Amino acid sequence: MNPLYRDMKVSVFERMSLAAAQHGAVNLGQGFPDFGWPEEILDAAARAVKEGSNQYAPSRGSPALREAVAAHYDRHFGQQLDPDHVCVTSGATEALGAMILSVVEPGDEVIILTPAYDSYAPMIRRAGATPREVALQPPHWRIHRDAVEAAVTPRTRAILFNNPHNPTGRLFGADELQVIANLAVEHDLTVLSDEVWEHVLLHGEKFTPLASLPGMAERTLKAGSAGKIFSLTGWKVGWIVASPDNAALAARAHQFLTFSTAPNLQSAVAFGLGCDEWIAPMRERFSRALERMSEGLKQVGFEVLEPASTYFLCVDLRASGLDVDDETFAKATVEQAGVATVPVSAFAEQDPSRHLVRLCFAKRDETIDAGVEAMARAR
Ligand code: PMP
Ligand code: GLN
Repeated sequence: MNPLYRDMKVSVFERMSLAAAQHGAVNLGQGFPDFGWPEEILDAAARAVKEGSNQYAPSRGSPALREAVAAHYDRHFGQQLDPDHVCVTSGATEALGAMILSVVEPGDEVIILTPAYDSYAPMIRRAGATPREVALQPPHWRIHRDAVEAAVTPRTRAILFNNPHNPTGRLFGADELQVIANLAVEHDLTVLSDEVWEHVLLHGEKFTPLASLPGMAERTLKAGSAGKIFSLTGWKVGWIVASPDNAALAARAHQFLTFSTAPNLQSAVAFGLGCDEWIAPMRERFSRALERMSEGLKQVGFEVLEPASTYFLCVDLRASGLDVDDETFAKATVEQAGVATVPVSAFAEQDPSRHLVRLCFAKRDETIDAGVEAMARAR
């Protein structure tokens, strides 16, 4: 039995969703919207199923989707990409797995900035490497060059970077992106850049892909996700974007993880990526939902850390006058008050912040109001 899996906890998202179902609680834990996906994309998927797009797709992705991903990023970020830069995967989780397996060798170290998405450290270990955590500090979660550089050793192969950042909702500034780029160039590191939240920008924020910084296109592998762009998280259609050589290597890892991804969903996502009209209304909806949840929580006495991106806000329990750690609060709240949240300490192994819980605000007004009422009962 592999001790890595014997000693591993069940993912916090699964844990909290199961607890929400068991206790009939409002689920503001795992991040998924309960409204707002484009109907036209559902129709495109249904058409593709009916028209017979139901057998294995090419392993690297359907030509139409690889083309659509490249064209989408050209249009949005002026990157000059073609389908050779793209490998389609079954969600960004698989993209990250294939990226890590194709870049990292046993004995390497990979720097992650915590709190970090929960798949990073286990996948780095599965590749035989060691995750080196650099803790960002609330409430600003800023990247400081000295702290990241102190984690670089002769064995460091890569930085696994996440921007916009889950669970904090931070969109890192141009100076912070430059810190990552400079360290990568100076220490000859690869950057695995998880950019799944690139379009979920609140209140008019702007996103810059790391690969667009000078010198970074050749050393960055990006993970993207249609689940986030179209509010269809269960579809699990994602992609890797990298130099043609790096994309080809990642595609070798991908072919023995899932081999290929549902062709009908690829076809609908290719259609969706071609029309930019979904993006602005999505940002407006989620900005309004954030405001509603944030105002509601403040009215019942919670201190909120405001995000610039993602579906998530964090509540600072300590600053809200509660003397309780995040796990204890989250457990009691889902079992007794009727709302599931995610304890932020689940996103780090060393030195985690234990006074924050994450809530998903990508919900209809009724869901938000029910969640806020339940949070009020939890005080
Ligand atoms: N990375 C981050 C930072 C995420 O937040 C998520 C999903 N919430 C993923 C990766 C996984 O994306 P997917 O569902 O496409 O696998
Ligand atoms: N990414 C989602 C979140 O942060 C959950 C994904 C999952 O359940 N694995 O909540």
